Amino acid sequence: MEILKTSDLPPLGADPSRTYRLGIMGGTFDPIHNGHLVTAEQATDELHLDLILFVPAGQPAFKQERNVSPAEDRLAMTLLATAANPKFMTSRLEIDRPGITYTADTLQELRAHYPQNVELYFITGADALLEIVTWKDADKLAEIATFVGATRPGYDLEKAHAELEGSSIPFKVHYLEVPALAISSSDLRARQQQGRSLRYLTSDEVIGYINKRHLYE
Ligand code: ATP
Ligand code: MG
Repeated sequence: MEILKTSDLPPLGADPSRTYRLGIMGGTFDPIHNGHLVTAEQATDELHLDLILFVPAGQPAFKQERNVSPAEDRLAMTLLATAANPKFMTSRLEIDRPGITYTADTLQELRAHYPQNVELYFITGADALLEIVTWKDADKLAEIATFVGATRPGYDLEKAHAELEGSSIPFKVHYLEVPALAISSSDLRARQQQGRSLRYLTSDEVIGYINKRHLYE
């Protein structure tokens, strides 16, 4: 079952006399939760983004060691969680790309797809920001997109800041203060396995879907 077509990128950039800002929220989203959503919303608000594309990873490069839920389930949950927000869109770009998922490939694909008056903003939490120097083609990433580094409870955004300052790659980073939600997908999976409540940590629709599909049992 394919929920969206491959050619699912939303139109943006039609008026050549103005600049558009596209946010990209990458993640495994296993499952998506309110920490992801509040981060995306804050980025949209503070950076005046026109649209945010949620892009669930196909085979996440750094999660080879654990069993990630089927891509179609992670995509479905992402769609359910973002459906009501007119600025949030979900893409199967990474899910449809064979092999291990690299953000560099995604950003290059988006850069080739959209006209030059569309600027790309890649949103990460403090934990992921600390690692971008180790990502494949980090120098290309720095060229193509501005990073948005969001605060995340339990992780030190200042440390990431210092690390990136010291890097030889000229990353462009916008630091973003996000209402602190100490929520992680790992914790949600553990809760579900233990029969504990997920309510108000992610949307009711996502919880319903997790139960219906018997995920994380
Ligand atoms: P897992 O525990 O499986 O690693 P996760 O909660 O970290 O899941 P990911 O899908 O790995 O979620 O993260 C996607 C992106 O969202 C990353 O950039 C991560 O830093 C960011 N993020 C996740 N949770 C939060 C949160 N509570 N606050 C701010 N950013 C977050
Ligand atoms: Mg994570």
